[in-house]
Amino acid sequence: MALTEPAPARPAAAADPAAPADAYEGILRRQSLRESAARTYARSLPVVPVRAKGLTIEGADGRRYLDCLSGSGTLALGHNHPVVLEAVRKVLDSGAPLHVLDLATPVKDAFVTELYATLPRELAKDARIQFCGPAGTDAVEAALTLVRTATGRSGLFAFTGAYHGMTAGALDASGGATAARVTRLPFPQDLRCPFGVGGERGAELGARWTETLLDDPKSGVPTPGGMIVEPVQGEGGVLPAPDGWLRRMRQLTAERSIPLVVDEVQTGVGRTGTFWAVERSGIVPDVMVLSKAIGGSLPLAVIVYRAELDVWQPGAHAGTFRGNQLAMAAGAATLAFVRENGLAARAATLGARMLGQLQGLAAEHPCIGDVRGRGLMIGVELVDPTADTGVGPDGRPSGAAVPPPAPTLAVAVQRACLERGLIVELGGRHSAVVRLLPPLTISDEQAAAVLDRFADALAAAERAVPRRR
Ligand code: PMP
Repeated sequence: MALTEPAPARPAAAADPAAPADAYEGILRRQSLRESAARTYARSLPVVPVRAKGLTIEGADGRRYLDCLSGSGTLALGHNHPVVLEAVRKVLDSGAPLHVLDLATPVKDAFVTELYATLPRELAKDARIQFCGPAGTDAVEAALTLVRTATGRSGLFAFTGAYHGMTAGALDASGGATAARVTRLPFPQDLRCPFGVGGERGAELGARWTETLLDDPKSGVPTPGGMIVEPVQGEGGVLPAPDGWLRRMRQLTAERSIPLVVDEVQTGVGRTGTFWAVERSGIVPDVMVLSKAIGGSLPLAVIVYRAELDVWQPGAHAGTFRGNQLAMAAGAATLAFVRENGLAARAATLGARMLGQLQGLAAEHPCIGDVRGRGLMIGVELVDPTADTGVGPDGRPSGAAVPPPAPTLAVAVQRACLERGLIVELGGRHSAVVRLLPPLTISDEQAAAVLDRFADALAAAERAVPRRR
């Protein structure tokens, strides 16, 4: 087992961000007293990062962690990659303004050129870009406003388990919402397929339901202003959309002039094994929502869309913070580095190998209900296997086809990972999916260390968490 490496001793200096060990406890205590009850990652990851490089974060307590959360998928190149630092320094040293609203600058021009070079060609050849407020959710809002304005229709098709952000429109489009204007459609999944069949057949049934809603004049669902979909649901539990199903969604929407909005906030920039996740199925969306990795670890969000949708009036979607020059420089450097170094292909190869190794682990651990993912976006769904014996307390078949999710075990695994110096995220409908989102720069040795620590943590958590029966 690879245990947490202690950080090398370093001399104390006034400007050293590393707090002494007792200060570390104080920082965490003050955070829990002063910050809101809505804080999220900070609850399960009591880490006070003071330095970071690549996959590694060093905490104020002197411990080192392998970071497979990567700012929730933001850090395509890991922490403080030299090309990102160099790009940021170049802007700082140039005397360029850091804040410019949405004015044109050489830095922005270079970013847009680099971004367009990566986009599906059919979209890039006649695309418009809108710089949004700096978060992914702002870009989702912009996309929804755009398609509603362009079509004059207010309804929206969105999917079960979706996550698009925390502003009102994005939240409505997400799986936890009950918004009147949003029609919820089944997102394909194998383990918990709503039709009980999974695979191609489950996806086909979902597509047929979508088609029926659109074509049945008495379905009670008016033609929507757009459809929004994640090519791989991230927060929803790492569920890749089957290629054929995505193509069906593209066909159904195209035939009815419904703009298809693809949310690539988390899947973009090589994460899933192609530069953009849509490339795998070959579909060309009408609108792409981009954030996270496109800012090279700094806040940046845009939508890119077909020019014919550009019916906005000046100022129709505005915002003060749309001109972050440092983010554009860091983002352009990141996009170029991923493209030039074939990191999407690397994510595909390494991700497939890691998936295979995790599937091997699943064979030894019945608490792993499913291993899935695409590229370096990987999920391990934990279940309670004792509920899947198919035998009820009276000795008769219980009818439980799929073991229930095990969120308590997932929390224990996350904690055991942290104790072993590994940071992972939890996701999925029931928070029972352990998510791995390592940087695309992770080496083979580091990937092996991640899986070692995970396997060890899983075994420890399994021993510690009592089963239902
Ligand atoms: N869309 C997707 C697919 C996401 O994963 C996220 C964030 N996890 C968002 C939108 C929202 O991005 P942000 O948190 O930057 O608002």
